[in-house]
Formats: sequence, C-alpha cells, structure tokens
Amino acid sequence: MKNFNIEHVLTIHHWNENLFSFTTTRNESLNFINGHFVLIGILINDKPIMRAYSIVSANYEKHLEFLSIKIQQGLLTSTLQNIKIGDKIFISAKPVGTLILDNLKPGKNLYLFSTGTGLAPFMSIIKDSSVYERFDKIILVHGVRLVSDLAYASFIENELPSHKILGNFIRKKLIYYPTVTRQDFKNYGRITDLIMNKNFFEEIGLQELNPEIDRAMICGNPSMLTEISNFLKNRGFKISSADGKMGDYVVEKAFLRKKS
Ligand SMILES: Cc1cc2nc3c(=O)[nH]c(=O)nc-3n(C[C@H](O)[C@H](O)[C@H](O)COP(=O)(O)OP(=O)(O)OC[C@H]3O[C@@H](n4cnc5c(N)ncnc54)[C@H](O)[C@@H]3O)c2cc1C
Repeated sequence: MKNFNIEHVLTIHHWNENLFSFTTTRNESLNFINGHFVLIGILINDKPIMRAYSIVSANYEKHLEFLSIKIQQGLLTSTLQNIKIGDKIFISAKPVGTLILDNLKPGKNLYLFSTGTGLAPFMSIIKDSSVYERFDKIILVHGVRLVSDLAYASFIENELPSHKILGNFIRKKLIYYPTVTRQDFKNYGRITDLIMNKNFFEEIGLQELNPEIDRAMICGNPSMLTEISNFLKNRGFKISSADGKMGDYVVEKAFLRKKS
C-alpha cells in the first residue's frame, strides 16, 4: 500500500477485557510530533482495514506504541485485539493531528483532559521535555469507568518520576489525576463535573481555570469534548484555529461516533 509502512508487533499488553496496548517496530523515516496520530491497520479477509490511532510513545523512542479499545462488533478491533507478536501492521507514513504544543499560546499551567483511550496522545506529551520547559504545571486528568481502565497509571505514578532525564521535571511539575465513574476509587466522578467544582482545584493546589494563565488539550469521547469546550469558551478561552493560529486550547476526538 502506498504511503504506509509495514511494521511488526513486538509486545502486547491486555489491560482488561476492553483495552490493550502494543508496541511495533518503527520505520526510520517516520517522524512525528508528540500528540500526533497515524492510521494503522491490518488485512482482514484480504482487505486493509485502517483506523486513526494516537501514538503513545514519544517521538525520540525507538519503537511505536498504541493503546487500543476492544470493540466486539468493531470492524478493526474485533480482530486487532487478537494480534500476536510478529504480526504485520500497516502504519501511515504521515502522522498528523491538532494536539501539539505549538498550537497553544504560552501559558503557566497546561491541563490535559482525557477519557478512555484519549489518554494516548498525552502519554507522548508527558514524556516530552519541552512541555516541562514551557509550563510550570502539567495536570493530566484521565477519566474512565473502571479502575482497570486506568492504563499506564503505575507507569505514570511509579516509573516516570524516576526517569533518568525527565524525572526531576516530572516530580516537580506533573500532577496526575485519574478519576473513575463506576467503581469506588480515591477520585470519583466525571471530568466535566470536576472542573466545575472548587474542590478539584483545591486538591491539586491551583486556581480555577483562567484563560490568562491556563492552557488545555482535550481528547476523549465526543460529548466530553463538547462539554469541556463549551465550559472553556464561556470562561473566555479561545480555541486554536485550523489555519495554525495558536489558541488557549486544542481538541481532538478519541473516536468518531458512527451514525446508526
Ligand atoms: C483522531 C483519532 C484518534 C484515535 N485514536 C485512537 C486510539 O489511540 N486508540 C483507540 O482505541 N482508538 C482510537 N481512535 C478510534 C479508532 O480510530 C477506531 O474507531 C477504533 O479502533 C475502533 O475501530 P473498529 O473498527 O473496531 O470500530 P469502529 O467501527 O471504528 O467503531 C465502532 C464504535 O465504537 C466506538 N468506539 C470506537 N473507538 C472507540 C474508542 N477508542 N473508545 C471508545 N469507543 C470507541 C464508537 O462509538 C464507534 O462508533 C481514534 C480516532 C480518531 C478519529
């Protein structure tokens, strides 16, 4: 296929029955900006089935990593969830996307709001040293239904703070706030409710959202995107524009809802 590289699966991790992640080889010519997504796919009944996937790995890492939903009726993921080490994966050669730091105006605090697999692009961003050079605090909020949906929680809490190069930054600047809606957990509730509540900001030690100093990136289910975007707009935040004008926040859907 034109404009696609053929890569091979190196490792696979099943988080639970709804979620898995995997790493692949990376073509030397593939360059991307942290936050970008690619099209990935496999042959199913001899036809290539391609879908958009955000890249979890940072752009300096040797391999590519992806976090994937498992949709039992989904054309791609009903099969993709059964991939094995060594299997072939098509990966588009031109990564794209709006969730990049250069689309944001300078600011003090950067909020990364995600639900479900919307965490994926933010994994590459929190491993990017330039995010810590540009912002004083980076607040990664991940909203999920079940505790087992909190992919990478242990990596973020236990491994990243002792990262050889980034550890010092991460210990001082990264605030990780996982929240769960369908099970008891230390943080409970929807992100959209959290950001309207003073307690959340008290807990993380920051002031309520303010376009003078705060910037945001949002990636998740379409209704969360709309709710948070409306909230930010009402507070005076301006979205970055498609023609490259920097804004106070950027958004990307973590998936498209199919019309039935
Ligand atoms: C810019 C962009 C980036 C994306 N990045 C990722 C990613 O990093 N990881 C990932 O798993 N998916 C991601 N997706 C979604 C992905 O493209 C596919 O939709 C997903 O892999 C399911 O494919 P499918 O063919 O099995 O089901 P589809 O036929 O594509 O989807 C069936 C239904 O499942 C639901 N659905 C699809 N994807 C998700 C999801 N991720 N979470 C919850 N519900 C979903 C939707 O309601 C959809 O209508 C992204 C989509 C976009 C537009």
